[in-house]
Amino acid sequence: MSDTAGTGALPTRGVPAARVLDEIRALRSADRPTHGGRLFAYVYDPGVAGLDELAQAAYAASAHVNGLDPTAFPSLLAMENALVAAAARLLGGGPGTAAPDVVGSVTGGGTESLLLAVKAARDARPELTAPRLVVPASAHAAFAKAAHYLRVELDTVPVDPVTLRPAVADVAAAIRPETVLVVASAPSYAHGVVDPVAGIAEVAAGAGVRCHVDACFGGWALPWLRRLGAPVPAFDFAVPGVTSISVDLHKYAYAPKGVSVLLHRDRALRAPQFFAYADWPGYTMVNPVIASTRSGGPIAAAYATLRHLGEDGYLRLAASTRDAVAGLADAVRASDGLRLMAEPESTVVCFTADDPKLDLFVLVDELTARGWHTQPQLRYADLPASVHLTVTAAVASRVAEFAPALADAVAAARATGPVVLPPELRALAAGLAPEELTPELVAGLAEGLGLAGGVPDRMAVVNTLLDAAPAAVRERLLAEFVGLLQRPAW
Ligand SMILES: *Cc1c(COP(=O)(O)O)cnc(C)c1O
Repeated sequence: MSDTAGTGALPTRGVPAARVLDEIRALRSADRPTHGGRLFAYVYDPGVAGLDELAQAAYAASAHVNGLDPTAFPSLLAMENALVAAAARLLGGGPGTAAPDVVGSVTGGGTESLLLAVKAARDARPELTAPRLVVPASAHAAFAKAAHYLRVELDTVPVDPVTLRPAVADVAAAIRPETVLVVASAPSYAHGVVDPVAGIAEVAAGAGVRCHVDACFGGWALPWLRRLGAPVPAFDFAVPGVTSISVDLHKYAYAPKGVSVLLHRDRALRAPQFFAYADWPGYTMVNPVIASTRSGGPIAAAYATLRHLGEDGYLRLAASTRDAVAGLADAVRASDGLRLMAEPESTVVCFTADDPKLDLFVLVDELTARGWHTQPQLRYADLPASVHLTVTAAVASRVAEFAPALADAVAAARATGPVVLPPELRALAAGLAPEELTPELVAGLAEGLGLAGGVPDRMAVVNTLLDAAPAAVRERLLAEFVGLLQRPAW
């Protein structure tokens, strides 16, 4: 490898293609494995032979095509319209359904879809000077981001600590004259439970307010699970009052990253999502979504993935996923000291520890050490810290290995015992005001915790520290830390 590899120094002489690819492969070797069925977050792996190659070829064929202008590149318009129709059909819309006029847009991801759902709802009510958004506490953090970016006030409805769902009456009570949008999740990312969509949509409609169903996670999984016989409650356009739905194709449609669909029940609902501008000397601009120049790569790759897998493929993958979820949940139930946060009703297994001698964050490290990558979730309100597993079809081939690995990791975590934070650290986390967290203080803290060069294998101390801190301090710590990581590679 050349000595400037991985730095920003442009080589004085161009590096041959094969060596450049070697450099990238070398960098990639530090990443968590995207295949193999032992990574329970970030990556959605169907474990289908040949699918990567197909998606890559489709991506490459359209990578330089620009979605900025659908008249210049009709191929992209055609593929987007196909993706929107496929998503709409799967989610209770299209000809012959209760929502025959569904329209939509392809976006770059779930966050973009949610930002646009909030923007469309806000801009449909231009007379409001202080618009508001009602979300269950379990709604994705992207809604808080949307509220922040768009200057919309967030009204958070608590979730029941047992069902992990909001009460419809509480949602109804949170709706005010300034509310522009009410949200339900199908399912929530953290726990994988489906909100009472029908009830929430009904109270929203009764107040004349839009209702968005965030099916970013489950929109491409729940319909197949239902066809396989799972008792999935109504959550899509079949529910009166649901005005928009988001579904991420880069999750359970198993497309490469960078593609989500935002659907609206009709064109009038979608209209305020668009931005057009003609009052400048350049090209007249109309952007249905946030990005202006958009690569055709993710769209073509998603199109290829959907067509290649087809209904039979998605049903088969959903069956594997369902079986994997059942196997993982059994392994959790069989572990002394662990408890499922909720009975799995989608593709998430989420558990907590109810034995003070078993430290969840130590357990996460022990699982990592055994090659199983799980996602710790910090305590929130009256919910304890938990471990989240996003289950995808590729896990099915590994599920038999999980129970012994979990048992082994639980034993190791018990042997290690819980993390004991040095009292001064705990006091710091619990007692600091966020504005006291200067960059210097955080840099010193990161150094002391062994985080200076990146993220170490053992994260239990860091997670315990974050867990002890109030949300505002967590946010500052995280932002300062990532600010340290993101520095130019001179
Ligand atoms: C993943 C997810 C999002 C955000 O999607 P990104 O693609 O990460 O931007 C929003 N809502 C839910 C429920 C999700 O699971």
